[in-house]
Amino acid sequence: MPLISVVVPCHNEEESLPIFATALEEVAAGMREDEPSIRFELVLVDDGSTDQTLVVMKRLQGEEHRHLVVRWMSFSRNFGKEAGMYAGLKMAKGDYVTTMDADMQDPPSLLPQMYDILAHDKTYDCVATRRADRAGEPPIRSFFARMFYRIINKMSQTEFVDGARDFRLMRRRMVDAVLSMGEYNRFSKGIFSWVGFETYWISYENVERAAGSTSWSFWSLLKYSIDGIVGFTTAPLALASVAGAFFSLLALVFLIIVVVRAIVFGDPVSGWPSTMSVILLLGGLNLLVLGIIGQYLAKTYLETKARPLFIVKETSDAPSTQDES
Ligand code: UDP
Ligand code: MG
Repeated sequence: MPLISVVVPCHNEEESLPIFATALEEVAAGMREDEPSIRFELVLVDDGSTDQTLVVMKRLQGEEHRHLVVRWMSFSRNFGKEAGMYAGLKMAKGDYVTTMDADMQDPPSLLPQMYDILAHDKTYDCVATRRADRAGEPPIRSFFARMFYRIINKMSQTEFVDGARDFRLMRRRMVDAVLSMGEYNRFSKGIFSWVGFETYWISYENVERAAGSTSWSFWSLLKYSIDGIVGFTTAPLALASVAGAFFSLLALVFLIIVVVRAIVFGDPVSGWPSTMSVILLLGGLNLLVLGIIGQYLAKTYLETKARPLFIVKETSDAPSTQDES
């Protein structure tokens, strides 16, 4: 009796959530027609929503669903999508677990196909989705996204797939592997790739949000991309050593030229522009490298605090029945 858990992190999704639940119920009904032993659970994580999302979740749990069980958890504040996904994966009991957005940008209609692949082909432990293109996205955002993937793939051993969504169906053993990475600065695209396992990729056309609006701003995306780089490569730290070696060599050559010139031609006091250039260049470089070290130090600082990734305010699972399945 395979159990499929559908994990959905929600931040202000009061409008999208009912649409999503209905769509999922339909898909579940279709899949159970083919294979009646499949069971579904919908694991909703309310990530500090300021609207009626939690109320909607409770209502969904109370409703009669013929094809799925609804469970939910509510955070004490907004901890971010990454924390929401982690909490949901932890709460999920399924043999197969999928992470999806509430806004219908991850079409539930892909689930039967994804499940089919995992159920019939044991070589794969994960079916992941990627956007076929970036149509409908602001050009500047696409440009920076492309740059980000190009840079991070150059620097990191972990593979980052451009356009990969967080929508994927995983077998239990992969979910456990993902959960074993309890880092505070989470970057799921990297984590999913880092844990390994065979992944089957499906492409689909980008879909517009069903309702509500995105919670990501340009700055939050920029911050997120720095999390990705700092989390999965230490290559920027090597910049200091490489630049240091280069400039030492240059300084040596320069020194020889200056000394020889002074001996041969005497020393007319000039060269203010060159002195200034050297000072400015090295000063700038110093700050840049210090900043990079600072980024890593800051992340290290946060990791050593070992703070919880999220704090639960309320959950649908009564404490005594938490481990029952
Ligand atoms: N989300 C979340 N916490 C946040 C921001 C977003 O749980 O702080 C959820 C959101 O409710 C949605 C999913 O993450 O289910 C994806 O968010 P969104 O649609 O805003 O992002 P986009 O699709 O634009 O990348
Ligand atoms: Mg979305």
